[in-house]
Amino acid sequence: MGNFAAPQCRLCRREGAKLFLKSERCYSRKCAFDRRPFPPGQHGQATTNKVKEYGVQLREKQKMRRIYGVREKQFRLYLAEAIRRRGVTGESLLQIVESRLDNIVYRLGLAGSRAMARQLVSHGHVTVNGRKSNTASHLLKPGDMVGVKEASRSLPPIVKSLETSAGARMPVWLELNPLERNGKILSVPSRDEIDTQVDETLIVEFYSRH
Ligand code: SF4
Repeated sequence: MGNFAAPQCRLCRREGAKLFLKSERCYSRKCAFDRRPFPPGQHGQATTNKVKEYGVQLREKQKMRRIYGVREKQFRLYLAEAIRRRGVTGESLLQIVESRLDNIVYRLGLAGSRAMARQLVSHGHVTVNGRKSNTASHLLKPGDMVGVKEASRSLPPIVKSLETSAGARMPVWLELNPLERNGKILSVPSRDEIDTQVDETLIVEFYSRH
């Protein structure tokens, strides 16, 4: 089992960056990317840096989709919305994906990963403004309250995640009440308040040529 790497870890190695798709494992010595920071497959280590501009943009776009767990079709819709909004398109795109319900659940520390957050949402454990919402792509806005259903507040994954994330830096645009298992969106985050390591300008450039 020494060489076992979860499928998610292969995505990190493919994108050449830690995408944090596996909760605690990502912060441990078991992280496959830390141990083997080159693309998977027998030719992985032979990959050269001569990746063309198109390839760089494509990889950046795939990286962001994988971090947030968004399908291509949905991602294009988000980009269309980002273009429609005033401001810098790349920043707007990030603000849109950050406002997804599954991302907010993860950012609040109620889940150890976005995948786990999606599961909590789809299984009906999460509320928005006091009402159950099982749509992970639900886009939230400042003032919205995200909570956990009363009957689900002691679910082991939630308790464990809150314990693990206790003391971790909460984004300044979110506020968590760990005892009540709820949190509030205070504002729309600016680019420097989003720690996602992607170059969103490359992604906008990628779609501008398609
Ligand atoms: Fe796997 Fe490391 Fe990527 Fe987490 S950050 S999904 S442990 S390779």
